[in-house]
Amino acid sequence: MWWMSAPARVLILGGGFGGLYTALVASRLLHTRAEITVIDRNDYFLYTPLLFQVAGGSLQARHVARSLRHLLPRSARIIHADVTAIDLDAKQVTTGSGSFSYDFLVLALGGVPNFYGMASAEQHALRFKWLPDVFRLRTHIEQRFAEAAAEPRRARDVLRTVITGAGCTGVELVAELHDWMHGPLLRHHPSVPRDAPSLVLAEALDHLLCPMDPNLMRKAVRKLLDRHIDLKLERFVTEVGPEWLKLRGPAGDEQVPCGTVVWAAGIKPSPLVADLPLPHGPGERIDVTPSLQVVGHPEVLALGDLAACPDPVGGILPQTAQVAVQQGPAAARTLHALITGEIPQAFRYRRKGEVVWLGRTGALAEAFGLHFTGLPAWLLSRTVHLARVPDWGDRVAIALQWAKALIASERR
Ligand SMILES: Cc1cc2nc3c(=O)[nH]c(=O)nc-3n(C[C@H](O)[C@H](O)[C@H](O)COP(=O)(O)OP(=O)(O)OC[C@H]3O[C@@H](n4cnc5c(N)ncnc54)[C@H](O)[C@@H]3O)c2cc1C
Repeated sequence: MWWMSAPARVLILGGGFGGLYTALVASRLLHTRAEITVIDRNDYFLYTPLLFQVAGGSLQARHVARSLRHLLPRSARIIHADVTAIDLDAKQVTTGSGSFSYDFLVLALGGVPNFYGMASAEQHALRFKWLPDVFRLRTHIEQRFAEAAAEPRRARDVLRTVITGAGCTGVELVAELHDWMHGPLLRHHPSVPRDAPSLVLAEALDHLLCPMDPNLMRKAVRKLLDRHIDLKLERFVTEVGPEWLKLRGPAGDEQVPCGTVVWAAGIKPSPLVADLPLPHGPGERIDVTPSLQVVGHPEVLALGDLAACPDPVGGILPQTAQVAVQQGPAAARTLHALITGEIPQAFRYRRKGEVVWLGRTGALAEAFGLHFTGLPAWLLSRTVHLARVPDWGDRVAIALQWAKALIASERR
């Protein structure tokens, strides 16, 4: 048993939602029984659910990216490096800053955008996953506005922005971009015709994909249509070019001229994880047992977006922060059980409701079996995220920025 010998070497790959919460709880539970090392290519934890607000300029990047050193206890070692190889037989992980051996490994590397093998999309569409993607998107759209101001004749095509994928990320992003373009960006470019910027949300299925009650989703659709967002449902993207994309739908093929395509149509595990010789479930995610252990490798745990964790009500759990945040402490408890010679317990997911933001002043929410719209939904959605942001200073700063934005929108 581990507690009788040297501290166990626990290596956590990824300091996102799953990795951070595993490390926080494992440090507390295991004390001197384990040496905990977190490896991440970024030295910060990224609060992705508020990323679209950084894209639209209503929040600053520093409020959603908090240093891992600041969040984790001193006892946890943090390695700022890219993981390049995982050898499960040799129990060794290779990074840009050297190799690390482990007794227990936690795979929490999240996912990468899934282009479903479409090379043209990978080449021309903008990603919306990490912080640098947000800066790239902001710069790109600002450049498009500058082009439209210089050549108003082309403004409509240049300022048409297509978001692919009507999951929560696509829906929230399209609403936020609408408010940014029709607010600050048009004000800063008075020569651009007011009706020139337009947004298209393209989705292969016949409905929005947020896991919410159908009645609430119908309201979301209405709110997007009220903003004149062009909802193109049942449309497959077949090709993306530098200034257009091709869609295939029930009425045939169409080519949409546009200045920007943003890819928000799903994620998959990175090739590093997908190529591991392990059983993979749907979407190349790693199959895990209810205690989050990898099938065939009980010393390896997997969680978050890269894991195919069984949902007791059927299927597998969705790729959301809500799931990863709950799996982190469960993974820590499994590690504790393995190290102290107990039997690991099954992880039980508790769905706590959903919130969808619809621009700077709109929201829909579902909690405790109730539906919320208007101001209650706005307040609930903000409260949910404030409670989840891991740093108190950031919570206060974010709340102040939202209050400022709300007052500014009331004055307009
Ligand atoms: C724009 C956006 C908005 C979202 N909004 C919501 C929302 O509102 N609600 C919700 O529940 N979920 C939301 N999600 C989903 C949520 O972010 C994920 O489900 C969650 O982050 C998964 O946690 P994770 O720990 O698996 O991965 P992540 O949080 O992605 O963490 C993975 C970590 O691994 C690191 N990493 C990856 N590869 C390497 C490597 N090779 N070497 C070193 N480090 C590496 C990354 O830097 C990262 O820190 C959103 C996602 C996005 C992109």
